[in-house]
Amino acid sequence: MRQPSLLQEISRRALLARGGTSLLLGASARAAGTTVPRSSAEAPEPDNKSFDLLIKGGKVIDPSQNLEDLSDVAIAGGKIARLGRDLPSQQARQVIDASSKIVTPGLIDLHTHVFPYVGPYGIEPDPYCVSRGVTSVIDAGTSGAFTFPAFRKFTISQAATRVRALLHVVSLGMVAGSTPNMGELEDLRYCDPKLAVETAEENRDLIVGFKIRFSEHYTGPNDLEGMKRARVAADEARLPLMIHIGGSFTPLGDLLALMKKGDVVTHTFNSRPHGVLDAAGKVTPEVRAARERGVLFDVGHGAGSFSFDVMEKCLREGFLPDTISSDLYTANIQGPVYDLVTTLSKFLTLGMSLPEVVNLSTAKAARVFNFGAEIGTLRPGAEADVSVLDLREGEFTFTDADGKTRSGRKRLFPVVTVRGGKTFYPSA
Ligand SMILES: [Zn+2]
Repeated sequence: MRQPSLLQEISRRALLARGGTSLLLGASARAAGTTVPRSSAEAPEPDNKSFDLLIKGGKVIDPSQNLEDLSDVAIAGGKIARLGRDLPSQQARQVIDASSKIVTPGLIDLHTHVFPYVGPYGIEPDPYCVSRGVTSVIDAGTSGAFTFPAFRKFTISQAATRVRALLHVVSLGMVAGSTPNMGELEDLRYCDPKLAVETAEENRDLIVGFKIRFSEHYTGPNDLEGMKRARVAADEARLPLMIHIGGSFTPLGDLLALMKKGDVVTHTFNSRPHGVLDAAGKVTPEVRAARERGVLFDVGHGAGSFSFDVMEKCLREGFLPDTISSDLYTANIQGPVYDLVTTLSKFLTLGMSLPEVVNLSTAKAARVFNFGAEIGTLRPGAEADVSVLDLREGEFTFTDADGKTRSGRKRLFPVVTVRGGKTFYPSA
């Protein structure tokens, strides 16, 4: 029998004293000017039940186990306890009816910006991630060595969403945008691989790689030198490197030449100059060579970095993304990105199957960076991170980062997310 921790017991008593449900937490937080998702904050009463939570009757899609079948998912002690049909509801403290819903491992978003209030990009993670199907995210370089301590203390340690960071090799991180501000690589004195490595070593539990951005308005002519310094940092710390491409000063092939197995290119399918396609619309030999030696190609949709035209050309040539990420930040949460499940829905519209789309945002995504936890799977013993999604049929219009649209007949919506055994719902 699991006893509630002292902290859980105190918060339970405080809630009960206020006549409370977890909704009260939401109300008081809103009054304080912040938004938190509704969550199951109350500790369970001690009893004889085997499961804390039972997700019943959903269609489970778990590519890590090649599983696509009706199944219940039982959770105990913050871990997946059992999968199987007709698990007994009376053995569970809480039951979620998932009939006619899709149940997947908690979705993983490898490109977000969730360091709010410092610079123009960051959003609060929980309303846009754990409340919307995504249990684990990578923050892609919003923080650098100068700002990471604040990110750690005020965001990562407070978030219900599991947040891991790629540290920007530029110590400033992304505190400014670009013109009329200074792009972060325009002054190379801020690009300090030694300081980046020191910061990564001191925060090995949360910093899982490095990030650097190569668009001319962030770099001026300095991108190749920045790439060399990023290479030094990644090699020294033995961590993967993610590069942002699209409109670089230097041709993409010259930057890719310095990428190694396990490194990640994000914004792969953007329509800006120096992209992955040649003038004839074919994937370049340098891009294919990079994939062959193990460089990974991620989506990173964003407000300016995903083109249906480019994606369709790549799909026709069999050049699929390795992972599907959103690049969520302040300028795209009201569209065209909205959230990761909308990004996944765009790939359904482009003809990818639901299991494949789930694979690229669960099992495959879990292997790219070291999250320090067993995620991306519903195998018993793994983290109790689960997404319950609704695959609705209808007429849906999707917009890419260039304002172009495609019509689709299916769209995923988040229903409830379980993270470490607790439940989170989308805000209205
Ligand atoms: Zn980004």
